[in-house]
Amino acid sequence: MKEKHQGQQIILCKKCGSNMIKKSIVIHFLIALWLVTPFALLIPWVGWAFCLLVYFLSVNYLINRIFVRKEVLVECTACQHSFKVDKQTYIQFKNYLRS
Ligand SMILES: [Zn+2]
Repeated sequence: MKEKHQGQQIILCKKCGSNMIKKSIVIHFLIALWLVTPFALLIPWVGWAFCLLVYFLSVNYLINRIFVRKEVLVECTACQHSFKVDKQTYIQFKNYLRS
């Protein structure tokens, strides 16, 4: 992965200038939260509130994914700064890593 990123100039971190960029892991985080919800449901009030929160986060994420498709959230692996890039740029970036 490191070698593939070498010379990559399509997306650079806006904070530290590093080119070690990867797609943000928001979705993995949401899946992890969903796995916890069945257990959270067993805890009155606090757990239920947690489930509601997970639900709203997921809906929010899905709406963003469906309607705001012009931007992709990426993350800098050097300084953990996350920022948005437009989809066109992200596709170029992906193709670069694949080649
Ligand atoms: Zn950075």
